Amino acid sequence: MKAAVFYEPGVIKVREWPDPVISGDEVLIRVMAAGVCGTDLHIFDGAEGASECYPPVILGHEFAGIVEGTGPDVKHVRIGDHVTADPNRGCGVCPECQRGRYHFCPDMFATGVTGDGGFARYAKVREEQVYKIADAVPFEEAAMCEPLSCCLHGIEQAKISPGDTVLVIGGGTIGLLMVQLAHLAGAGTVIVSEPVEKKHALARKAGADYCINPEKATPFDLIAEKGIPGIDVSIECVGRADTMQDALTYVSRGGHVLFFGLTPPDAEIPVRPFDVFRKELTITSSFVNPHTMGRAAALISSGKLILSDLISDRLSLDEIHQAFKIRGKNGKMMIFP
Ligand SMILES: [Zn+2]
Ligand SMILES: [Zn+2]
Repeated sequence: MKAAVFYEPGVIKVREWPDPVISGDEVLIRVMAAGVCGTDLHIFDGAEGASECYPPVILGHEFAGIVEGTGPDVKHVRIGDHVTADPNRGCGVCPECQRGRYHFCPDMFATGVTGDGGFARYAKVREEQVYKIADAVPFEEAAMCEPLSCCLHGIEQAKISPGDTVLVIGGGTIGLLMVQLAHLAGAGTVIVSEPVEKKHALARKAGADYCINPEKATPFDLIAEKGIPGIDVSIECVGRADTMQDALTYVSRGGHVLFFGLTPPDAEIPVRPFDVFRKELTITSSFVNPHTMGRAAALISSGKLILSDLISDRLSLDEIHQAFKIRGKNGKMMIFP
């Protein structure tokens, strides 16, 4: 099969690669669409990411396709099913897995990171990783199930109450998924802070009530102008120290702060415990997608989310190198192997 194989930082080769061979409870997926994630860019750059990578390996952990083969022990998945896969799989026997926290498993297997993934014609996963998506859903939308499931875990950590005012910092793909999930979680008002003003129209389409350019106005200016009492929840979706700081600064008393963006491992921000105390802040974060893929798949299948609009670049497998140059500046990059 044709595959994009990662060899070492900066080196991905599109080449012939052996077809995956399935056995036992494994499922063979004909990959129809595979999203390029910030994690793929991190690995390509040789930066430290969420999990270890052992090249040569086929990257791509956000993919969807059609089932073309099932091992003899597969029970529920059928050939022809439209599916996506949870890339993350715990060992099942360590203390973390036994507590139901497989995302903290020290031996976590991640399809497309620690093992071959979706930047190829075929991918294989275990049946437990497979989630069905309604046939009517375009594959490029189905391929966004994994990032959506990560956002879903994040939104739950952020503890939005009905009527809350939510500030989403960053109007990229993740930010605009968060906007939609914040509304579904009951937010009354959602504000997006995004310096690239041409992204504001899409943010509004995704449900942002207000968009600000942080280089021209602060969330404080906006809420004063609109008579909004305060920001109950702030969600950082950029992954920079200064925007993490902003998330702490702009949230009101009793607020919740979600650090969702991935910063460099050595990034630091000053936090004054007195401010945390005075504002009675809850500062939280979220790591990958424990037990949220099923609901993410159901949400996508419902057709209620704006997803295709978030995709800015559609590339063939042969054009995958472009993705690592564009780096998702305009939105989600999708590969069609
Ligand atoms: Zn990802
Ligand atoms: Zn484990």
